Amino acid sequence: MGFGVFFVRPIGLVAGVKRMIVVMKPEAKDKDLQHVVDKIEALGLKTMVAYGTNRRVVCCLGDKRGVDMDTLATAPGVEAVVPVLAPYKIASREIKPDRTVIPIDGHSIGGTRVGVIAGPCTVESREQILETAHFVKEHGAVALRGGAFKPRTSPYSFQGLREKGLEYLALAREATGLSVVTEVMSPEQAPLVAGYADVLQIGTRNMQNFALLEAVGATDKPVLLKRGMSASINEFLLAAEYILSNGNQQVILCERGIRTFEDHTRFTLSLSAVPALKQLTHLPVVVDPSHSTGKQDLVLPMARAAIAAGADGLLVEVHPNPEEAILDGAQSITFPQYAEMMRQVKAIAQAIGRDI
Ligand code: PEP
Ligand code: MN
Repeated sequence: MGFGVFFVRPIGLVAGVKRMIVVMKPEAKDKDLQHVVDKIEALGLKTMVAYGTNRRVVCCLGDKRGVDMDTLATAPGVEAVVPVLAPYKIASREIKPDRTVIPIDGHSIGGTRVGVIAGPCTVESREQILETAHFVKEHGAVALRGGAFKPRTSPYSFQGLREKGLEYLALAREATGLSVVTEVMSPEQAPLVAGYADVLQIGTRNMQNFALLEAVGATDKPVLLKRGMSASINEFLLAAEYILSNGNQQVILCERGIRTFEDHTRFTLSLSAVPALKQLTHLPVVVDPSHSTGKQDLVLPMARAAIAAGADGLLVEVHPNPEEAILDGAQSITFPQYAEMMRQVKAIAQAIGRDI
């Protein structure tokens, strides 16, 4: 991490709250850092230290109204007390210019390699999830997706196999070695789902379920946070900040399409969100071409476009027989379509200096 360049911007003010970070000198000692942390905490604020290759930065978390931070600039080892423009802090590239890479059992999301997470919308049976897991694994997936608890618009619709679904996912992990990504819908469910899953998914409808964000923030599992269908980029990053500020630094952002006037596609895939997010945050960004389009034949072109736009990965729905799928069959791709998608996105990744 460089922290070579800090731009001093006008003090960021939202509702009277100043956001500040303390940049330590390269030669600052551990005791200088501890002194700064203690001073900030004595002011009633929380701290988070970001470590760079030659500098450390102390991020002050909390409401600083009425707190005078300027005197900290005179503390030993302090280079500057700098205002942060963004309302989110830990998620911001101002705090951490280096990209966050999230390890997922032998693979990673956010590094040079593009990571593909694939599987059915929902776990339907032992056979269905095992067959899919084997196929996507053979064709380069880094993780298996599949919902056991499904957030449904109607209370009368299929709600998922619940714990049985989690058990089948665990079987598929055992059989293939693939990590498992599955959704958690409530804070009370978090311990159960975290007991089975390798990555906890927060669905679009729960992006601003703050109690849930805090609950997954308290676990040690990476979180795949889907953008709320009506959320701005700012709101998306503030939702990520809830998880980060509760101690969990492993957040993967997922652009899954937003609501617009357009009704030809299920949602509108906001591809410009990908490079925009990558400017604003160090967190990895993946794209879901399945829910954003709602149409099987649009998945491949949007998957290609997502990788070309700089996405760190894809979250894609694959089903052994989409026609028979209980959920989201219209947007699920077949095994041959998945294999072809992998072939094409690999070529695109390689064209921009990445790989799969
Ligand atoms: C899903 O990934 O299966 C899902 C329900 O997605 P979203 O929350 O984006 O609708
Ligand atoms: Mn789905």
